[in-house]
Amino acid sequence: MSVSEDAPVRVAMLGGTFDPVHIGHLRSAVELHETLELERVHMVPAHVPPHREAPGVTADERLRMLELGIGDTPGLVADGRELARSGPSYSVDTLTSLRRELGSQARLVMALGQDAFLKLASWHDPERLFELAHLVVIERPDHPASPDQELRALIEGREVVDRRDLFARPAGGLLRLRLPSRMAISATDLRRRLYAGRSVRYLLPSSVESYIVSRNLYR
Ligand code: ATP
Repeated sequence: MSVSEDAPVRVAMLGGTFDPVHIGHLRSAVELHETLELERVHMVPAHVPPHREAPGVTADERLRMLELGIGDTPGLVADGRELARSGPSYSVDTLTSLRRELGSQARLVMALGQDAFLKLASWHDPERLFELAHLVVIERPDHPASPDQELRALIEGREVVDRRDLFARPAGGLLRLRLPSRMAISATDLRRRLYAGRSVRYLLPSSVESYIVSRNLYR
């Protein structure tokens, strides 16, 4: 089944530090694109405060690795809008900017992994996120957990089970998604491997691995 031509456009944002981007991010984005029949998935690297940055890896390099990792993958976009602004951006700002471009009827999705979802109540203006977008939570095999009281209150009445119900409205719903290829890959583990001189082969695209080696990153 495909989305009819006059149906409102469906677009997702997947934010993250992408430090570095790996197959868990990219395969999730591809499957999200396919499963929800999206026009495109904007992968948006976050501005990271200098004291939290991986030593020697700049925001431009994180964006470049994302571009290399995406390559010509249909439907995925490396979106540097948070880096173009000075200072950090909140997800509500980024969603506001996407909403402005797409119009009020577009179906906008903010996708995030389960680990990020569990911290949602502590984000800036979490209620506003639901005014701007639907939330789609991607299950991660290495991050089991259940929402605390505060998060349960925030999402109360928003959850839909059938993805068709999600797109009946432009925003405001919550869907948990178990994608076919769930992968226990994290950037933290990749950075550890790189610092220790261990192999990262097949955990990230070879184009990204070559870039890391050529720039001597994560050493
Ligand atoms: P780190 O280990 O440095 O915290 P990470 O691997 O979790 O990094 P992020 O850049 O923080 O990567 O992740 C961006 C988004 O992608 C987050 O919403 C995160 O939950 C999600 N994500 C990361 N890895 C996976 C994975 N293997 N499967 C599904 N979602 C993932």
